Amino acid sequence: MRSTKMLGWKKRNKSAAYEVTWVTDQLGVGHAPMSYPQLEAIRAEGVDAILNLCGEFCDLHDIETGAGFEVHYLPLADEEAPGLIELEKALEWLDEAIYLGKKVLIHCRHGIGRTGTVLNAYLLRRGLGHKMAGKALKKLKSKPANFVQWRTVRKYGKQSGQLRVREPSLEFKRLVDLSPFFNDYEEVVQRVEERAGKNGGGEACGLDHDQCCRTPVRVSLVEAVHISHRINTELTCEQRLSVIERAVETAQAERRAASAIGVDGENLEYCLSEVGAVCPLLRKRQCMLFEYRPIQCRAFGQDQSLDGELWSTLLTPALEKISSEIWFAYTGSMAGSLPLFSFPDVVSGKFMEMIFKLMMEQGLES
Ligand code: SF4
Repeated sequence: MRSTKMLGWKKRNKSAAYEVTWVTDQLGVGHAPMSYPQLEAIRAEGVDAILNLCGEFCDLHDIETGAGFEVHYLPLADEEAPGLIELEKALEWLDEAIYLGKKVLIHCRHGIGRTGTVLNAYLLRRGLGHKMAGKALKKLKSKPANFVQWRTVRKYGKQSGQLRVREPSLEFKRLVDLSPFFNDYEEVVQRVEERAGKNGGGEACGLDHDQCCRTPVRVSLVEAVHISHRINTELTCEQRLSVIERAVETAQAERRAASAIGVDGENLEYCLSEVGAVCPLLRKRQCMLFEYRPIQCRAFGQDQSLDGELWSTLLTPALEKISSEIWFAYTGSMAGSLPLFSFPDVVSGKFMEMIFKLMMEQGLES
């Protein structure tokens, strides 16, 4: 096993040329990046996560992680194939990353045999069968390259079988394109930031201090969907599982606090830290998703600049409008009054249960 330093990775190879070969919108294949500019080129192609199969480089996966990618490392020697257990683990990770909306690059040293073996197994896992998978691989240079790799793919195919009850598909299609709603929401956020800036800004909660992270936060539907999307795409799998765990604990603490003090979900005049809880996104006194934090956090402590009038004339109507549009896009019917969601329930994903319940109450199908 060599380190990238032994290859003169930093000094000699400055090439920025790197082209990801996209197999689907979210899944690409390629060779091992050999310089920082190539890692930047991969990032510029929109890749969020990397399945690294290079057994020959002992530190490339660490460099990729350090560059901000979520990395699953399955070290394989050149010409080798993975064992079925490791292969299944890697494909589970790949499936989850794609389900969460991430773009993933699979690479080995040259992007041929090892990459082709794992890609072929993934196509089988998604239900394509050997014939269709072979067709998909035909135009790529990534394909199993020797007997051992072909045998692994055949064995995996026998184990995973072929889906027959529905159309095979490579990706989990989302029913609603949320990007126009997110653009509208980001415009509202921009106006809040500009207004705060004009009024002197001040210290930001989630970065300079964590006072807002110790109080209950409630968000509208658009903010819930937006932050939920960011949790899925910006955090690593490990971080996401850990914030979900913390969110469940914080939600329980919120309910305990609310019943002890005798307040309901609308009354936010109490402090979470009284029951030993904080926002699940708070880590080392800073917000893990500071750039995407809700408006309530942005407005915290800036009451003079972000006054009640701003909420009543701009923020509440704008957030209600975008939330109703999202509701319409999902259900095809107009929303009545939509509730606000507790932030820990949003982070844990529990808020989706509330949405389905609401749909059922209104006699709608999702
Ligand atoms: S979202 Fe971020 S800034 Fe807002 S309360 Fe949570 S940790 Fe603090």
